[in-house]
Amino acid sequence: MADTIYDVAIIGGGPAGYTAAIRGAEYGLKVALIEKSDKLGGTCLHVGCIPTKALLFNAEIWDHLSHASDFGIEGIGTPTLNWSAVLKRKDSIVAKHVKGLDFLFKKHKIARIEGFASLTGPAQAGIHTVEVTATAGELSQLKAKNVILATGSSAKMLPGLQPGPRILTNIEILSLAQPPKSLIVIGAGAVGLEFSSIFRSFGAEVSILEFLPRIAPVEDEEVSKELTRLFKKRGIDVNTGAKVEQVEETPTGVKVTFTDANGKPQIKEAEKVLVAVGRAGRTENIGIEKTKIELDRGLIKVNEAQQTAEPGIYAIGDIVSVAKIAGRNFRPVRRDRIPACTYAEPQIGSVGLTEAQAKEQGYELKIGKFPFAGNSKATILGNHDGFVKIVSDAKYGEILGVHILGPQATELIAEAVAVMELEGTVNEMMFTIHAHPTLAESLLDAFGAVEGMAINA
Ligand SMILES: Cc1cc2nc3c(=O)[nH]c(=O)nc-3n(C[C@H](O)[C@H](O)[C@H](O)COP(=O)(O)OP(=O)(O)OC[C@H]3O[C@@H](n4cnc5c(N)ncnc54)[C@H](O)[C@@H]3O)c2cc1C
Repeated sequence: MADTIYDVAIIGGGPAGYTAAIRGAEYGLKVALIEKSDKLGGTCLHVGCIPTKALLFNAEIWDHLSHASDFGIEGIGTPTLNWSAVLKRKDSIVAKHVKGLDFLFKKHKIARIEGFASLTGPAQAGIHTVEVTATAGELSQLKAKNVILATGSSAKMLPGLQPGPRILTNIEILSLAQPPKSLIVIGAGAVGLEFSSIFRSFGAEVSILEFLPRIAPVEDEEVSKELTRLFKKRGIDVNTGAKVEQVEETPTGVKVTFTDANGKPQIKEAEKVLVAVGRAGRTENIGIEKTKIELDRGLIKVNEAQQTAEPGIYAIGDIVSVAKIAGRNFRPVRRDRIPACTYAEPQIGSVGLTEAQAKEQGYELKIGKFPFAGNSKATILGNHDGFVKIVSDAKYGEILGVHILGPQATELIAEAVAVMELEGTVNEMMFTIHAHPTLAESLLDAFGAVEGMAINA
């Protein structure tokens, strides 16, 4: 390792880092990746996207089985939950994909180094030196022409709190010995909403405490409003405008004191509390201060090619940075074309501007909205809550935003992203043939609704 000069050294083996490593190798670069854990995959694979989606699928099956007779299936009796089998399945999915990454790294001959990496300063004669502290403590150095920082993020905690058996983050909640009978969820972004949904399905009394005036606060207001109604229908206690003052452990669980939207002090007690108040970038102790890299509220400032202010050091997010290093064409990331997905029941999938954002930007708007109640496939699935909403520019029919709440919203949003990327218009989408019966037809109807011409509503 000491004598090799890599084209690129990547710090962090989560989805950003491992994707960049593989793409770099595909471009013929000599790549090294340093990961402090003994496993590749990062938050996403171990304590994020993958295990949560595995549990959400269990929850979906459980919900279906609990209503089996609605589908004409009798004789199931009372389903019982084998929680340890649920966890085992989740863990085996994670393990399978860890192995897959190991295989891909070998296939692409990517050098993999276990240890905690930090920057030592600017490049000397075009070569960066990265310091690596192995798990056992010994120090070594690695040389590379470029460095990509992909150290990811950790759950933010409320001041004075430490995660433990009752005060949970996304890490602890994924390996509980039993599903809790009651759960308070602080924060109603994607993480809070997904765990609320999972444990409500498994019978927990769930209370959400969200500081902002609405849940799913980054989504279109109509999505938040309808999701609130549907979550309440599922028996989830939704509290918005709730300012958490104190979280205490009690002999049997936790007690959360908060000020409600009317300014009144309130107390809620539960077996566990999940703190899901956002993520903090892992930018500490990695030698940032030895470079020109600038931070913005704890996150690394990059340009459209993911370059930091220090020559040869990139931070990701996205594989375009590797394309740039390899001297190939790259496409700058368009943030407004990144889909946002929440996999709760019901699901949210959205891309582009909300109605409020588009108005703020001065567009004259045409809105199309189509409820899943009018979609035959949704009825077949027994899941017709929610809607598709199109935010479009009245003048040219440009699609500015698509907001889906309902069945398979996280899959359906792909069509919206593709059409926006290709700069398709409402008019073109209205006449694009969609197979029948499909959930995707709800998009067709929503595009039609922009011109007052939905077929099924
Ligand atoms: C509960 C939950 C559910 C989520 N669900 C989804 C979802 O469904 N879809 C979605 O798109 N996103 C989801 N996310 C977000 C997603 O997990 C993150 O966006 C993603 O993991 C970020 O990838 P990353 O590679 O930047 O960082 P990470 O996945 O955090 O990986 C960073 C890696 O860097 C390593 N590292 C850190 N510092 C160092 C160092 N100094 N030296 C060496 N190694 C280091 C870490 O050990 C880690 O392996 C979810 C997140 C959570 C918490």
